[in-house]
Amino acid sequence: SPSRSSVIVIGAGASGLSAAKVLVENGIDDVVILEASNRIGGRVCKENFGGVSVELGAGWIVGVGGKEQNPIWELALKSSLRTCFSDYSTARYNIYDRSGKIFPSGVAAVSYKKAVDSAIQKLRNQGADAADVSIVSEPPCTPKTPMELAIDFTLHDFEMAEVEPIPTFLDFGEREFLVADERGYECLLYKMAEDFLLTSSEGKILDTRLKLNKVVQEIQHSRTGVTVITEDGYIYEANYVVLSVSIGVLQSHLISFTPPLPSWKTEAIEKCDVMVYTKIFLKFPYKFWPCGPGKEFFIYAHETRGYYTFWQNMENAYPGSNILVVTITNGESKRIEAQSDEETLSESMEVLRDMFGPDIPDAIDILVPRWWSNRFQRGSYSNYPITSDCQVIQNIKEPIGRIFFTGEHTSERFNGYVHGGYLAGIDTSNTLLEEMRKDDERKSNGQSFL
Ligand code: FAD
Repeated sequence: SPSRSSVIVIGAGASGLSAAKVLVENGIDDVVILEASNRIGGRVCKENFGGVSVELGAGWIVGVGGKEQNPIWELALKSSLRTCFSDYSTARYNIYDRSGKIFPSGVAAVSYKKAVDSAIQKLRNQGADAADVSIVSEPPCTPKTPMELAIDFTLHDFEMAEVEPIPTFLDFGEREFLVADERGYECLLYKMAEDFLLTSSEGKILDTRLKLNKVVQEIQHSRTGVTVITEDGYIYEANYVVLSVSIGVLQSHLISFTPPLPSWKTEAIEKCDVMVYTKIFLKFPYKFWPCGPGKEFFIYAHETRGYYTFWQNMENAYPGSNILVVTITNGESKRIEAQSDEETLSESMEVLRDMFGPDIPDAIDILVPRWWSNRFQRGSYSNYPITSDCQVIQNIKEPIGRIFFTGEHTSERFNGYVHGGYLAGIDTSNTLLEEMRKDDERKSNGQSFL
């Protein structure tokens, strides 16, 4: 019969690892971590491409230089992680039209300001009470021209801070650093794992409490305990579960619950939007794009919103690497995931030839991450509609009996970020430890009656 542990942590990304670490540090040594893939790190994931290490998932440490220290930045400092400061604000001065002309900076700046004002207006209108006509004024203008569409895309899909106050920037600062380290962003998570899991001198995790390639398919739960069943037919029993799978996975029904989750829970899970964010990497034989200060980011204005809009050259990160990155989101991401990489390569080349002329060389390699198709992810990160109330996130986070929910999507202030996942894991484990203490008290009180 299966042995019973105190807690099973499902998922070994930033949140599952920080949750497990807090438990072990508080004397709960017999945790079991079940991870579906063959590695730890989850959405923090690097791959070697074109001779360097590129980040398929999280690429930036967002929120540095403010009144509080971002815990991920702290880990980065401890590991001497190599990073580069990113300044997106210059992107608006490098907007190309389809004939390769750059919009004059004055025109771009005016359009940008108009888009920000309009977004703020839209927010006010959405937030205003329907009865309060004094606040609901002119409907905001909808972007129509390729440049307006491009700016609208960078503002809304590419997360620019001008529109609404973002707690990450308020608490941790407005600076963002791109990770450019051969060990990858994930080395921070390996470092964290090393603190509480048995690891070889080469950094390989040997601890048998971490179980890779274990896809959880069912969680049975009752007043007395939980039983977790994996696709390979193993059965794990425990007193509690910490569930850190993404919001996309929760929506996908990869895991079934017996008894089923209550409807207030599943309704809340459905209400959270899943963002798909794809970084396509292209390697070239040589550089043909402008480099130097203010040139790292550039924008392509096309009549289809989000069509190969946001570009970055990797010269700051890896000089001489001759790599460009284009960011695609949501509908475009899904479209690109469904087509072959050759098709994506030829679309990208057409876009680049619009901007830089017919004579540029073809890319010699392409890398297209597929976060949406990955059944252990089903998207890139959570996005709560601005109008949704905080009850939604509280309901997503709320434990169901012995199942405790965690993950970036349960972080009220920092959802969507690595530090959000990391802090959510700590938070969930502290709540669970409190529950375990209460449970112990109840038991000892019960015994004193006998
Ligand atoms: P995950 O890392 O997803 O961990 C969950 C784990 O659960 C995974 O390892 C998964 O394999 C596992 N799992 C799933 N299903 C099962 C199952 N059935 N059984 C067992 N295990 C299962 N954040 C930033 O701060 N800066 C950025 O620049 C940034 N950019 C991003 C770009 C992209 C393309 C993506 C995808 C994300 C980005 N993020 C960024 C967000 C950040 O990566 C996440 O918020 C964070 O890593 C999430 O951690 P987590 O532990 O909540 O989830």
